[in-house]
Amino acid sequence: PSPLDKDQMQGLRGVREFLKVRTSYDVLPLSFRLVVLDIDLLIKKSLNILIQNGIVSAPLWDSRNSTFAGLLTSTDYINVIQYYCQFPDQLNQVDQFRLSSLRDIEKAIGVLPLETVSVHPARPLYEACRRMLKTRARRIPLVDVDSETGRETVVSVITQYRILKFIAVNNEKHTMLLKKPVRELGLGTYTNLATATMNSCVLDVIHLMVKHNISAVPIVDRDNKLLNVFEAVDVIPCIKGGAYDELSASVGDALSKRADDFTGIYTCSEEDRLDSIFDTIRKSRVHRLIVVDDESRLKGIISLSDILKYVLLYGEEDDTIRAP
Ligand code: ADP
Repeated sequence: PSPLDKDQMQGLRGVREFLKVRTSYDVLPLSFRLVVLDIDLLIKKSLNILIQNGIVSAPLWDSRNSTFAGLLTSTDYINVIQYYCQFPDQLNQVDQFRLSSLRDIEKAIGVLPLETVSVHPARPLYEACRRMLKTRARRIPLVDVDSETGRETVVSVITQYRILKFIAVNNEKHTMLLKKPVRELGLGTYTNLATATMNSCVLDVIHLMVKHNISAVPIVDRDNKLLNVFEAVDVIPCIKGGAYDELSASVGDALSKRADDFTGIYTCSEEDRLDSIFDTIRKSRVHRLIVVDDESRLKGIISLSDILKYVLLYGEEDDTIRAP
């Protein structure tokens, strides 16, 4: 193998070792706030709470049984929207839905409930990563058991973003060895890209995300130049206050509702190396990278799961999920 190959493998091995000797606890900040929502809360109200707190998901709590009841994410709101589309004359009922109705909504629209995986915060981070890749979960709750009461407690939620950020910040020694360019690694998706235009209707874009099981759709112009990205979390402000009829608005209108602290769109080229992608992750709040050419024409998309998958699994013999 070339020196580049050797460095790359050494870097990957180093990161994997690092993930095996750190735990999910290590990723958490010393002090943090956790918003947990009671399942008796109206779905409509949950939207406001997320928006007010500047978050896009929250663990759910069943206070009757004192148990953790899953994770509320933008997928749940997309399910509610699909329900509304299938049963448009039941808007009044949709307005009265509580978080405890989410499972019934899944059943009514015929989607399989997401597997509620959780990990113990003291387990190796590597395990949390493997579990995320296996279940395709973008975030998983850290659940511990209170030794006195024997009851479950949700400590926090760990995301792909937080894990990659943790690697980028604390393991630069190894990420700097990852000098192979994106093109050579085949990192990301380059064919059959789901895209939309500024004039597309929000609802159509949501259906596109559901159909392809993706969390973002690049918004391009007539020449396929990248203008923006519509993300699953952009759905939240769209339906604030139960305004489901506004989903017929255009993507352009919807994107103008983004919070002022929106972190922006990150792009890269196919020539960029993985170490520079880790630099971007270290410095910014990146949730995906859009691959563009010199004239900002869309080429591909690299999701955080693509990166995590490559970093964990590439070259591993015994794995069911294959990296590119
Ligand atoms: P994540 O799991 O990190 O949130 P996604 O669900 O968006 O990422 O992506 C899942 C897979 O689909 C990835 O392999 C990604 O490259 C691919 N993908 C993401 N967005 C699109 C898109 N708009 N069109 C086609 N494929 C996509």
